[in-house]
Amino acid sequence: MARRLTPSDVRDLLDRHGLEPSRALGQNFLIDPNTIDKIVRLSGVGPGDGVVEIGPGLGSLTLGLADAGADVVAVEIDRYLLPALAEVTVDLPVTVVHGDAMDLDWPTVLADAGHDQWSVVANLPYNVATPLVLDLLAARPEFRRWLVMVQREVGERLVAAPGTKARGIPSVLTSYWGVAELSARISPEVFHPRPRVDSVLVSIERAAEPRVDADFQRLATLVRAGFGQRRKMLRRSLSGHFTEEQILACDVAPTDRAEQLDLASWGRLARFEVS
Ligand code: SAM
Repeated sequence: MARRLTPSDVRDLLDRHGLEPSRALGQNFLIDPNTIDKIVRLSGVGPGDGVVEIGPGLGSLTLGLADAGADVVAVEIDRYLLPALAEVTVDLPVTVVHGDAMDLDWPTVLADAGHDQWSVVANLPYNVATPLVLDLLAARPEFRRWLVMVQREVGERLVAAPGTKARGIPSVLTSYWGVAELSARISPEVFHPRPRVDSVLVSIERAAEPRVDADFQRLATLVRAGFGQRRKMLRRSLSGHFTEEQILACDVAPTDRAEQLDLASWGRLARFEVS
């Protein structure tokens, strides 16, 4: 049986290295070998694949990914965890990078790794999960397949379909780059410390091209305006951008609300030339 961190391993590592899990950094460590195996299986990662892990923590998931034969680049912000992480990943094909995944020179970090496509597999720090996913989807086309653990509400927003209550800015912007789906629900019991929220795994398969023909910045501006006043009809929420007639000319009902629009409708609005 491959090595996995159990609850007592995690407690022992924390004790020996004098560590307290930091809430501010979203430190909830995986302590359940079955969950780790499930994440690795659902990620589809196999021998020789390049994997970026954001927030490896004590290395619970890192071990599973390395066992699957992946080359792992693991980016951890908390320098106090690094000695424990080094102990767990010694002799494994893992490159640990100390840095902030929100503000990293990714091309330099990944330059020598010899992969032109990467999977992102991570139990994300919950407080920065949405901006992290949205920023990296926009900035890093080489991150092709994603499997990330996030708070349940965040995951439901990322995958929400038009016309549902959870539909929001992250749903539309994520769908611009690829297809997002809920892969599994994960119980709070598999973490130490136990979080107060439920978690889900979200997969994102990045499309080769944006899924709608429209400039991303323009589309994002309109989506933010629309959802900025999500209870209002589009004729109000988008009044700074379009007249009612112009919205109609895009084949969109001015009386709709932002959450009702699909990606193609946002694309037509973003392509519309306002004279
Ligand atoms: N992967 C480990 C596991 O599953 O046991 C730890 C996951 S824990 C939910 C999130 C990890 O992300 C922590 O180790 C935390 O220090 C790290 N982290 C928080 N913010 C980060 C950032 N901006 N960049 C990189 N790592 C970050």
